[in-house]
Amino acid sequence: THFGYREVPTGDKQKLVGEVFSSVAGNYDLMNDLMSLGIHRVWKRYFVATAQVKRGDRVLDLAGGTGDIAALLKDRVGDTGELVLGDINGAMLRVGRDRMTDRGNVRGFEYVQCNAETLPFPDASFDLVTIAFGLRNVTDKDAALREMLRVLKVGGQARVLEFSAVKADWFKPFYDFHSFKVLPRLGQLFARDADSYQYLAESIRRHPPQEELKAMMEAAGFARAGYRNLSGGIVAIHTGYKA
Ligand code: SAM
Repeated sequence: THFGYREVPTGDKQKLVGEVFSSVAGNYDLMNDLMSLGIHRVWKRYFVATAQVKRGDRVLDLAGGTGDIAALLKDRVGDTGELVLGDINGAMLRVGRDRMTDRGNVRGFEYVQCNAETLPFPDASFDLVTIAFGLRNVTDKDAALREMLRVLKVGGQARVLEFSAVKADWFKPFYDFHSFKVLPRLGQLFARDADSYQYLAESIRRHPPQEELKAMMEAAGFARAGYRNLSGGIVAIHTGYKA
């Protein structure tokens, strides 16, 4: 298990922060806000707003988790569009489905428990495939990229939103301090789980930086692979197309 997916044990700290920690998703969403000072919402909105997608499209959101990306995509594909939320973790998927249902999003949504490395979908079945803060967790990233390409229709776009390499040298010490000092403390205080947040910081550092991920997408067979840095490279959006 790693950050945010654990049930938080009941105790004093839970009382402190109230009802939010009554479920895994409450924990997960709050931790995202705490760790990024809410900026992950801006990144996600930008990620979806700039996606190549139109009304009526069929979209796969991989590692969809609690459904942030899918909820935003719903506005772009409209009532005639279809959204498939895929995640390897059944608990995250259930929370995502409940949240979506509570918001009145029912028609056009499908939930599939699956591993991004071996997708249970036919070739050329989606107009857009997205994966946000998920590729980092996938063991065989090359396999996942190949699968994303396989299930895309010709002309379709794949989008990856992920932590990347910070560009500005002056910013690096602050970023390191946040990652290795602040994150584990936040994890300890709010989720009683410093180790998982330490793991999170390390998994971010191990993730392939911009040029390397771009090369991986090219190797997987994507056409016009490219990327755009957000917030000075804290995260990057990678795109590729099926030719
Ligand atoms: N996309 C959501 C977001 O941006 O808030 C969730 C991101 S969360 C950090 C990572 C998600 O990746 C988790 O829900 C986890 O279950 C899922 N995941 C990890 N490995 C996976 C795999 N091999 N295939 C599919 N999903 C995976």
